[in-house]
Amino acid sequence: MRFKMESDVEAFREEIRAFIAKELPAASERPDPGKPGASEEYKAYVQGFQRKLAAKKWLAMAWPKEYGGYGASHMHQMVYNEEMAYADAPSLNMGVAWVGPSLMLYGTEEQKNHVIPRITSVEDWWCTLYSEPGSGSDLASLQTRAVRDGDDFVINGQKIWTSTGHMADWGWLAARTDPDAPKHKGITMFLLDMKTPGVSVRPLVNMADRHEFNEVYFEDVRVPATNLVGELNRGWYHMAVALDFERSSIQFSGAGRRELEKMRNVLKANPELAGARPSIRHEMADREIELTVATLLAYQIAAMQQRGLVPNREASISKNYGAELGQRVAVTRMHLVGLAGQLRGGSGGSVIDAATPYLATVSSTIGGGTSEINRNIIATRGLGLPRG
Ligand SMILES: Cc1cc2nc3c(=O)[nH]c(=O)nc-3n(C[C@H](O)[C@H](O)[C@H](O)COP(=O)(O)OP(=O)(O)OC[C@H]3O[C@@H](n4cnc5c(N)ncnc54)[C@H](O)[C@@H]3O)c2cc1C
Repeated sequence: MRFKMESDVEAFREEIRAFIAKELPAASERPDPGKPGASEEYKAYVQGFQRKLAAKKWLAMAWPKEYGGYGASHMHQMVYNEEMAYADAPSLNMGVAWVGPSLMLYGTEEQKNHVIPRITSVEDWWCTLYSEPGSGSDLASLQTRAVRDGDDFVINGQKIWTSTGHMADWGWLAARTDPDAPKHKGITMFLLDMKTPGVSVRPLVNMADRHEFNEVYFEDVRVPATNLVGELNRGWYHMAVALDFERSSIQFSGAGRRELEKMRNVLKANPELAGARPSIRHEMADREIELTVATLLAYQIAAMQQRGLVPNREASISKNYGAELGQRVAVTRMHLVGLAGQLRGGSGGSVIDAATPYLATVSSTIGGGTSEINRNIIATRGLGLPRG
């Protein structure tokens, strides 16, 4: 059986590919996002590319047109995300992903008028301040406090794993405003200027030696009450904003396909690698088949959303399958280069850097919902098993 997209979706895919071919610098010319100290160069590169996306209204692909978005269907969004992931293009923007959509629903007129245009014109870099050392999967237990004092709220506490916090101009902050209420009912959302006195961002370098996330500390940080978003103590419900974004996890198979293609080219150019490990061809064939499965799982979700259905367990299945497959692709890459794969940066005579992706993909089954939490969802909402 051959699956084909509608012709307008395929035409859109070609348009995106042509845009990427023209506007995205060659991989060798892109700054390394994780290299410690390279944040300004990386930020300029990402914002430069995203401004070009914004000029076509593609940056806010899912947003309604009246807010500067493209108003795309779920299939169009998915194809866009697939092509961006395949090209390794920096299209993720947290302002677009949740700050803007939340403001559209719950923001004051002033917030909408001031913040939303700055998101769509890529003026500000946003980070997400949710997780804390003791609150990740159980986010509703977060402890960072916001206490009203005159026209301000005073913030004290700590966040962790804040992706790109070291580059951020603004933070999307969840803080506890009522410590006596049940935990889901005492949280409030704030817009936080990251340059406010008392905010300190400290780097966390991950095991692949990359500076991608941070710890953020708040010591008596004063945030104007006008930066509160939505209702006091209703932040938990505002956080779970009903985004009309596609939830297919297509980025995993898009990126996996790129990596497998690279490996195929390496093997063609260095056939002796297969001599050292004949099973590598079978392993790569397995990954190819799995990538097709991951792609179809993702397509299924976009197709459901297109029909007005809300994917639930299906989104968890696709996320787990895609993230775990990304790790298997990285393992296959290690097997391709053999012992030299233990060395970083393709050194030691290795024709391709296998160690960095091997280490970097570990986090994909943690960020954006851990595999265990997703399995709980599949078990309870999918299989109807009782809660443990
Ligand atoms: C690359 C990356 C980027 C991130 N970026 C951000 C960011 O920008 N902003 C932000 O706020 N956060 C960010 N995070 C944090 C992320 O959301 C959390 O790491 C994630 O929610 C898990 O929380 P935790 O690390 O506290 O682990 P925990 O919740 O403490 O979990 C530890 C282990 O216990 C398991 N576990 C927990 N609860 C259950 C349960 N009920 N049943 C079964 N198993 C369970 C988990 O699956 C995990 O294996 C990022 C994380 C990563 C890896």
